[in-house]
Amino acid sequence: MAKDYYEILGVKKDASADEIKSAYRRLAKKYHPDLNKAPEAADKFKEINEAYEVLGDDRKRANYDQFGSSDGPSFGAGGSGADFSDFFGGGTGGFGGFSDIFSDIFSAFGGNGKTRVNQRGEDINVNMRLSFEEAVFGVDKIISLTRTETCTKCNGTGAKNGKEFTTCPDCRGVGRVRIQQNTMFGTTIRETICPRCGGSGKMIKEKCDNCAGKGVKKVPAEIRVKVPAGIDNGQTIRLRGEGNAAQGQGINGDLNIKVTVAEHSIFKRVGTELLFDLYVPFTTCLLGGKVEIPLTKGKTVLDIKEGTMSGTVMRLKGKGVKNLNRDSYGDMLITIKSEPPKNLNKKNKDLLKELEKGFEPNDYPKYKEYLNKIKGL
Ligand SMILES: [Zn+2]
Ligand SMILES: [Zn+2]
Repeated sequence: MAKDYYEILGVKKDASADEIKSAYRRLAKKYHPDLNKAPEAADKFKEINEAYEVLGDDRKRANYDQFGSSDGPSFGAGGSGADFSDFFGGGTGGFGGFSDIFSDIFSAFGGNGKTRVNQRGEDINVNMRLSFEEAVFGVDKIISLTRTETCTKCNGTGAKNGKEFTTCPDCRGVGRVRIQQNTMFGTTIRETICPRCGGSGKMIKEKCDNCAGKGVKKVPAEIRVKVPAGIDNGQTIRLRGEGNAAQGQGINGDLNIKVTVAEHSIFKRVGTELLFDLYVPFTTCLLGGKVEIPLTKGKTVLDIKEGTMSGTVMRLKGKGVKNLNRDSYGDMLITIKSEPPKNLNKKNKDLLKELEKGFEPNDYPKYKEYLNKIKGL
């Protein structure tokens, strides 16, 4: 058989009808697309319903157990067709059971079943540019935007002064209506949220003039953002509830601020570490010397030791960027690069050759080691 319906509902093969029904209720609540916004929830919900449609019906279940299909045995060509008599014979039984369960689900989340399932306002996504220093030290910023906010004049109800209501005539204030549907399978009755009042049971008698009865209004807003020290390029600051307000009783969406950090003229930032290549005259590497270098704030003087090899990395502990979540700092890593002078003239070259004569192979231990190795190849 293609799908194991027992496995889908998480029940044993010999589960009682009540056990199956309660497993279905639990899973349907968990995966109902109105309540569960996970992308896989809708498919899961469909699968659960498919399983319950079979296992929740004694005759279909018996067929399924015996033949691996709720339709009973297949008889050659065309045998995969649905068993219509099953639907007609069942009357409202199957569907009645469903609406039963959905009343439970909605009442469980809507309090007394009168209110609709709460919606969430939409998120607002914005970009924010920061200088290198603002990202390193943190900064307070004001973001100006337009967002939907709950109308303060009517408290989001849409009714004048928040109280000009009448009872919904379609559901008489209950918020739910029964819909009779005539389908090829027979007549079914479903209970559903009242479309006229959206489940509130109330109708607006006189609209709020501030929001034209919508309960929400687009307004300009200035939002203060505390950008934390150590934020990095591409990271997003999420301000919960600072997005658009939902119509009705829902919660606000979020404000997501994606950060773009400008590059520094010297440093390259990798996480909390600051890196750069420091080119110095070859004589500084040979003789040692002091070179001014930048810090995140101000400058300092780096002491390069006599006989520093080109490519040596000097680490300045704690001179990098603050860790976003901890009170600790990364390091600064400076790679020393020996820069040869350009435009050597004949006199320079003669002097250098003269100088070189004064050294012996032992003065270049690494080069000597290399020469020994290459001889052995
Ligand atoms: Zn209003
Ligand atoms: Zn109604």
